[in-house]
Amino acid sequence: MILKSPQSKTFRHVYIAGIPDKRFDISIQNGRFASITESNPHPAEVVDGVQDLWINPGVIDLHTHLAWTDFDHDDQLKRDPHEVEVMQAQAFEATLRTGVTTARDAGGLPPAAVRHIAEHYGPSLRVQTSTDMLGAADSRGLQHLEQRLKGIFESGAQWVKIMATGGLGAPTEKVADPNFSEEEFHFIVRHAHAHNKKVMVHTWGGVTIDWSAAAGVTSIEHGMFLTEDQAGRLAEAGVAFVPTASIYRIAADPRGVLALPQVICDRAARAVEAHPKAIEYARKAGVRLGFGTDYATPALHGHNLQELDTLTDYGLTWSEALKSATSTAAEILGSGYELGRIAEGYLADAIIFDADPYRAKNADELQKSIVTVITGAV
Ligand SMILES: [Zn+2]
Repeated sequence: MILKSPQSKTFRHVYIAGIPDKRFDISIQNGRFASITESNPHPAEVVDGVQDLWINPGVIDLHTHLAWTDFDHDDQLKRDPHEVEVMQAQAFEATLRTGVTTARDAGGLPPAAVRHIAEHYGPSLRVQTSTDMLGAADSRGLQHLEQRLKGIFESGAQWVKIMATGGLGAPTEKVADPNFSEEEFHFIVRHAHAHNKKVMVHTWGGVTIDWSAAAGVTSIEHGMFLTEDQAGRLAEAGVAFVPTASIYRIAADPRGVLALPQVICDRAARAVEAHPKAIEYARKAGVRLGFGTDYATPALHGHNLQELDTLTDYGLTWSEALKSATSTAAEILGSGYELGRIAEGYLADAIIFDADPYRAKNADELQKSIVTVITGAV
């Protein structure tokens, strides 16, 4: 069940996930946590048969593509526009239902579409957008980039997304080659920052990771070929790392939900091979690791929690993985002052579980213990 912006609501004797052995009374007013107090330990008041509940901050997915309906963009163009819109609304709904209350869209979704979906379909997913990605086709000099950025700023996006290298579509030996000149890359970041836009950089590895650290972007995405030295530089520069690790496992499986051609599966398999090392380097260096899925098709939206399993398989503890999706993700968004924690004054974005989420064995168990998803003030 999804509770949209409950104006006022009180939870009694609930656990706050991550704080063992204490129960709290929590009241929500105007979509924010108004008061959180430890419950009086009156055993008689906690009657038998009353369900134990845990409240956890809503999950923040730092890398989604809510507007995409097909792996191949040409397939989306063949669809009827109304069908596309309905599918996008379903993506919002599925994402919210799995406990993701905030998403950062990594390209394809303009703010106007978010407003339209909220008005006509109602899902109250909180979304930050980057509108259009800047990619290889935009490496046409500074004047062209200035025009493209103008369009992105005017759309109202909070982020600028740079496709600094290729991805699954690029031949293995070329995937770390930069799509832009160093001058163009730095121009984009400078210009974005001058307009108070944050920058997220798609890069599989190579020199664009160094450029990202030097330019002080907010996050790099994917980064499977990150080296140990580069991890140190990211940490020093305060640049976050959003590995989006699970999508490459899914893409590498020719019988998986994406069912991609063998050559693409092989490229994904190389990414899968490299990712655990990159994450280990980042973790050791103290780079902020953020939860992001890169999920972009109906078969994937709503399965976002799977990323937690991959992050733990690659060396994070379960509790680190949960934090990468809540408090750390909120800090990466620059919203750490009102998102990602159950605290007074914070937005009431939360998941109610009927089992301790910190003790879940995996994403599937976590998913099954969701009772309600709450979204707070708009
Ligand atoms: Zn992406």
